[in-house]
Amino acid sequence: MEQNFRYELVGAFGDPIDENPTGVMFEAAFEALGLKWRYLPIRVTADGLRDAVAGLRAFHFKGINCTIPHKVKVMDYLDSVADDAAIIGAVNTVRVSGGKLIGENTDGKGFLKSLKEDANVDPSGKHVVVLGAGGAARAITVELALAGAASILVVNRTTERGKQLVARLKEKTPTSAEFQPWTGTFAIPAGTDIVVNSTSIGLYPNVNDKADIDYDTITASMTVCDVIPNPPKTPFLAESAKRGATTLDGMGMLVNQGVVAFKHWTGQDPPADAMHAALAKVFG
Ligand code: NDP
Repeated sequence: MEQNFRYELVGAFGDPIDENPTGVMFEAAFEALGLKWRYLPIRVTADGLRDAVAGLRAFHFKGINCTIPHKVKVMDYLDSVADDAAIIGAVNTVRVSGGKLIGENTDGKGFLKSLKEDANVDPSGKHVVVLGAGGAARAITVELALAGAASILVVNRTTERGKQLVARLKEKTPTSAEFQPWTGTFAIPAGTDIVVNSTSIGLYPNVNDKADIDYDTITASMTVCDVIPNPPKTPFLAESAKRGATTLDGMGMLVNQGVVAFKHWTGQDPPADAMHAALAKVFG
């Protein structure tokens, strides 16, 4: 019988990369499906990115994740970029199709999948408040807008960043977008259906930090989501749950952005439960 000792390769380019746990969930999925694939976290500095992408082609990688500081710059070295990733202005996943490197952004898609499947909420026609205007907020708002959200209110501490995001949403998507500066305690407007914390507030090790909003303006009819995967039970979600809101944590988004990337790379649907369990173990 012919034997094959070669592995199909995917992984992540980043700097720093040592403490990035993403590979754990992909390796769990490869094992569960019996795939001869490996996910390699690779330290690539900013000045090495061009060569690293050339290496993807030379080593016949099936794809790669890009994290800090490569999500924007990598677009210069790809053959094409998916429409939504181009609007977001960042690529977190590269897939190979017909020998071409194609940039995708699975962060927002992962959020959307988690919203639809874990919280059972379709954003079409919904009124959304998003706290933050960084990379995660960009990905989430673009996908919500393309999925038919009726309105998106971006609330951000730094005015310039918030205004830029809203201008982009207005220009490139059909949604109605507005910006409000985050000064003092923010009251969630009545009639809001979905609230998303897409800031880094609450991320380990600052686990007691809580977004400065008036939690008494959260109601039971709202779905309240957090992007923070570690720890998944943030004070923001705990306060919202106390007011009866449906809550969705950032682990769902993290696993699902991996699920979308996995499908791009292998063509197969991975076992999301195994991926979630592997990550949960890492996060303790
Ligand atoms: P960025 O640095 O691009 O943006 C950070 C955002 O948080 C900005 O809007 C910033 O506001 C805001 N912010 C930070 N601290 C405060 C504060 N104390 N008060 C008010 N606003 C604050 O980061 P990313 O968007 O890339 O990441 C944000 C978070 O999302 C991270 O914690 C990351 O771990 C998480 N994430 C989760 C993913 C998942 O799959 N679950 C995927 C991607 C990211 P300002 O503009 O004023 O600085």
